[in-house]
Amino acid sequence: MIIVKTKEEIELMRQSALVVSKTLGMLAKEVKAGVTTMELDKLAEDFIREQGAVPGFLGLYDCPSTLLCSVNEAVVHGLPTNIPLKEGDIVSIDCGALMNGFYGDHAYTFEIGEVTPETKKLVQVTKESLYIGIEQLKVGNRVGDVGYAIQQYCESHGYGVVRELVGHGIGRKMHEDPEMPNYGRRGRGKKFIEGMVVAIEPMINGGTHRVKQLKDGWTIVTLDGKPSVHFEHDIAIVDGKPEILSTFAYVHEALGITSDEEDRFRKEALVL
Ligand code: MG
Ligand code: MG
Repeated sequence: MIIVKTKEEIELMRQSALVVSKTLGMLAKEVKAGVTTMELDKLAEDFIREQGAVPGFLGLYDCPSTLLCSVNEAVVHGLPTNIPLKEGDIVSIDCGALMNGFYGDHAYTFEIGEVTPETKKLVQVTKESLYIGIEQLKVGNRVGDVGYAIQQYCESHGYGVVRELVGHGIGRKMHEDPEMPNYGRRGRGKKFIEGMVVAIEPMINGGTHRVKQLKDGWTIVTLDGKPSVHFEHDIAIVDGKPEILSTFAYVHEALGITSDEEDRFRKEALVL
């Protein structure tokens, strides 16, 4: 059952999303060669609590950490480790926060120093596919329209779209209806309605779409060992159209990236 949100609830969800956005922005300055994902996890937990929120993943489904950090061939659900990041790695950091009874949940893939041109391209295409999917999140469309758009774009570059893991509705629960696959058929699936809030999160592999789970019971890795990238935003349907509640602006500011990628999905300019 899809739980629609009132305008007031959407404002609260924006606050929860922004806690995560700021956390990712804080981490952007710390994600570098020599740092361990366990160190990043501790920084993130403290930062979220300082903002009056609580980590959204910690304890959820027995998750032992605040962040899920997926390095290189890890797709998602990577548990923080004491292995230092190194030049040329990519790390997808997924973070959740709970505040005022609502969850925020989003993810960004960071490059450590110089990565290969192939990896850079995978990161770029996956990020672009997120917005291509968001464009389809409007009243009149269906779940399959978002998945179709993401799948077409990524597969046109020869990449694999993970099937086993999907985006989701979000609200008072981290995972609500509907499931939001990154693949699908146009015009199929549940209809989008005013007041829905979803997390769209392409998980795109450099090679095969096939994945496996490591023995830690959490980390999902590509079957062929090629890198995988993950970006995620929280988006509401307001006045029939997609409105992004989260933002990568804090990350971009920290990394010196100029971007207008989110602007068309936001009614008012964001003030950092
Ligand atoms: Mg997430
Ligand atoms: Mg999610």
